[in-house]
Amino acid sequence: MAIMLRLKCPSCGEVMNAAGFCNCTKCGTPIRYNGWGMLQIYRMGSPVGIAAGYGIYLDGQPYGHLANKESIRIPLPMGTHTLHMTCGMTRRCEDLTFTLTPEAPAAYVKASIRMGFWSNTIHLTPADPSEMPQA
Ligand SMILES: [Zn+2]
Repeated sequence: MAIMLRLKCPSCGEVMNAAGFCNCTKCGTPIRYNGWGMLQIYRMGSPVGIAAGYGIYLDGQPYGHLANKESIRIPLPMGTHTLHMTCGMTRRCEDLTFTLTPEAPAAYVKASIRMGFWSNTIHLTPADPSEMPQA
């Protein structure tokens, strides 16, 4: 399964999957990010909340959803970013902060959900590229 790019239109904010940089599917604005880094998220297989897509939030901005065992790559500008995810009624998440630099322009995160007594929690764990599905 090819790893898709998750793009956010800088003009209208539309979020879309694409095989590469493209024009916005909603407003047609060309989406090109020069000198940006990349975050790859892999949702590990889990029997909990399997039907629901995980909501993705980067620096407070929604970036769509992530299906079970899905992996996507999100282009991001250099700098420090905070990743937050939700799953249905599960709003508890151990947010992950990471920094992209020209020397280390890629970040890899594994997302999983853990059942709790009162509520479930989404765990975001820094990962090695070898743990990521590759395309
Ligand atoms: Zn657009």
